[in-house]
Amino acid sequence: MSHEYLIADIVEGRRRLHELPDDLPPEVAATIRRQAVAELTGADLEKVAEYTLDAARASRRHCENFIGATQVPLGVTGPLRIRGRWVDPEEVIYVPMATTEGALVASVNRGCRAIRDAGGAVTRVEDVGITRAPAFRTEGIEQTQGFLDWVRDNEDEIRQVCEATSGYLKLTDIKPQTLGSSIYLRFRFATGDAMGMNMATIACDRVVRDLIEPATGVPCVALSGNYCVDKKPSAVNFLEGRGKKIYAEVELSAEILDQALKTDARSLVEVQYRKNLMGSIAAGSMGYNAHFANVLAAVFLATGQDIAQVVEGAMGVTSVELRGADGVFASVFLPDVPLGVVGGGTALGTQKAALSMLGVSPHPEQPGAGAERLAEILGATVLAGELSLLAAFTSGDLASAHERLGRGQIAS
Ligand code: NAP
Repeated sequence: MSHEYLIADIVEGRRRLHELPDDLPPEVAATIRRQAVAELTGADLEKVAEYTLDAARASRRHCENFIGATQVPLGVTGPLRIRGRWVDPEEVIYVPMATTEGALVASVNRGCRAIRDAGGAVTRVEDVGITRAPAFRTEGIEQTQGFLDWVRDNEDEIRQVCEATSGYLKLTDIKPQTLGSSIYLRFRFATGDAMGMNMATIACDRVVRDLIEPATGVPCVALSGNYCVDKKPSAVNFLEGRGKKIYAEVELSAEILDQALKTDARSLVEVQYRKNLMGSIAAGSMGYNAHFANVLAAVFLATGQDIAQVVEGAMGVTSVELRGADGVFASVFLPDVPLGVVGGGTALGTQKAALSMLGVSPHPEQPGAGAERLAEILGATVLAGELSLLAAFTSGDLASAHERLGRGQIAS
């Protein structure tokens, strides 16, 4: 069967984009779809065809109707010095950041210098686990009570069924929440070095279908009942945490503030107070920070994380206090950062290269340690980004840096 015939089939509506013969090599299938879409839309898609991705992996595991790749510039910031549990202060860390926002990498780089001059950021991570909360419907209070009693009395069997689905998944907790005739069971799992959302969903599906529904007669209406809470900002995730809870802090002297960040302690504390705290309160925001999302999105994209989870990861608090003689103590707290170093998009070529730049991989003896190392590096990078942007406000540099770096001259 010629390719022209397949392209014509799609263009003329006899065949849908996903209905190409199974035995076509994935690169060929991508070319056929791309040419059909180019014809249908009139767009020039040649740039989309320039990729180094493994088309078989990309099309079978990551992206249906695969037609090529979108490129995002990759920059690097550092060196960053970190005094973590999984990162030694003697290590020299360079952080890959994929972004189209001119000035972002330069700004984070400036924050890295301040942290480095101060001897490094102290970081700690709590692996609180990934959550999934199926929604059930009952007849009312009496059936709800019976259902909750059954779940409490059968936790061991629930655990066995969940944990049989994976070599790495462990059930740590089930938190019920009831509202009217709805019940949400918020399952929390440790998932080793993986972010774990597929693992958690598979475990919940198995235990709901094979055990909970048959034993209780209470139907599950949705495997995800939005009390999980995946890819949405939420109070429950802020308070209880999800994925990794990340803490990073540093003390900066007056000299470092002046030389690395072109600012001073009082100005930085005031911007922090009026912008990150009061401004966020005025807005009803859950992000008491300057731009966690920028650093998260750039590192997530570079390292193969699920980029939509930036929505929840960007919640959190930056604080800056006066300390010592005109110095500051600055810290960031990110309560809800799902991430992993295995699974998801982490095995794609460029993402794998970015992870290897950070020296992160699944830990051979302690599942979870590789992901914690990545979380520590991310926390310190977020801190660098916060310090630099807050300092830019104190010196009025924000607009000029974006004008200079984000609108720099290019030869046409
Ligand atoms: P995954 O790629 O589906 O699963 C991780 C795999 O890695 C498992 O097969 C696991 O083994 C294996 N593995 C090998 N070494 C491991 C180690 N040291 N620690 C942990 N696991 C190890 O990835 P996932 O993290 O569960 O899920 C991430 C993906 O889910 C992303 O692509 C994301 O976009 C997507 N996602 C899914 C949902 C959903 O509802 N399903 C929601 C949001 C995002 P086992 O087979 O023994 O477990």
